[in-house]
Amino acid sequence: MFDYFRDAPLNRCCTFLTGGRARRLAYAYTQEELCEAADCGALVLGRGSNVLVGDAGYDGDVVVNRTASRTFSGEFCECDSGVLLSLLSREYAAAGRTGLEWAYGLPGSAGGAAIGNAGAFGGCMADVLDSVTVLSGGKVRELKAEECGFKYRASGIRGTVLKLRLKAPLGDAETIRELSERNLARRRKTQPLGASAGSVFKAAGLLPAGLLIDRAGLKGASAGGAEISPIHANFIINRGGATSGDVLRLILEAETAVFLKYGIRLEREIKLLGEFF
Ligand SMILES: Cc1cc2nc3c(=O)[nH]c(=O)nc-3n(C[C@H](O)[C@H](O)[C@H](O)COP(=O)(O)OP(=O)(O)OC[C@H]3O[C@@H](n4cnc5c(N)ncnc54)[C@H](O)[C@@H]3O)c2cc1C
Repeated sequence: MFDYFRDAPLNRCCTFLTGGRARRLAYAYTQEELCEAADCGALVLGRGSNVLVGDAGYDGDVVVNRTASRTFSGEFCECDSGVLLSLLSREYAAAGRTGLEWAYGLPGSAGGAAIGNAGAFGGCMADVLDSVTVLSGGKVRELKAEECGFKYRASGIRGTVLKLRLKAPLGDAETIRELSERNLARRRKTQPLGASAGSVFKAAGLLPAGLLIDRAGLKGASAGGAEISPIHANFIINRGGATSGDVLRLILEAETAVFLKYGIRLEREIKLLGEFF
């Protein structure tokens, strides 16, 4: 049993740093707490790095997943779903284990990454996952990776991801470290700093969404305190004082401009939660 904060601000729980309040908010540090909250219908958030929460907030309970236990065992890593993926990636590299080089610097939780099949630089969760433990309809089940319905930046996982079993074979420590560092350097070179949720849209087939938005003339466009990054047009940045409404306006502008110019309907990678008006 743990305490809920009432009428709690959600902007501190997501990387856009925008959004309204939740009716109740709790932090889960153990599997028991996570199960209890999820079983009672709370919306589970990891690091909030792939969501835009509406300014009118979320009329329900939210639980922020801070479970953090992980161990290497044989050729596998067993971890809680709240573990920060960038931290795990560093631990893989330090232990000379391969599979998470692409995730160096990725700011999401392992559970959130599994739900969205996060990926970068040619790797993704579907490649590294062996199985997940999921709470759904009051029952705990283990799903093998092939039962997770993974697609490009999506999965068919329904319910709350409690734990993950990831492949973690030993490899050449020096090569793993080099590749991880190279990926982090690429991230730093190509992605803007500032409050964001990473890529807003999925690539449209082989066409990067950022390129389409750029060619539609929206690089650098702003609404209130939000801006389509002049560095990477698939990133919207909260330059300070932005509302989720400002971010949403830019999302809609980008969708409209790309559709009018190319006839392509951009698909959102980030998830919109709660009420916007
Ligand atoms: C600077 C930056 C760079 C990024 N780079 C990348 C990148 O290279 N590749 C990439 O794929 N993404 C990237 N992202 C997006 C994001 O980090 C990933 O999608 C990440 O996996 C989301 O995890 P999270 O814990 O933040 O999920 P959240 O944003 O907290 O949640 C996302 C969704 O998953 C659900 N959810 C979260 N945890 C669970 C759980 N345990 N069980 C069930 N549902 C859950 C939430 O309810 C929500 O619907 C980036 C984001 C930022 C800010």
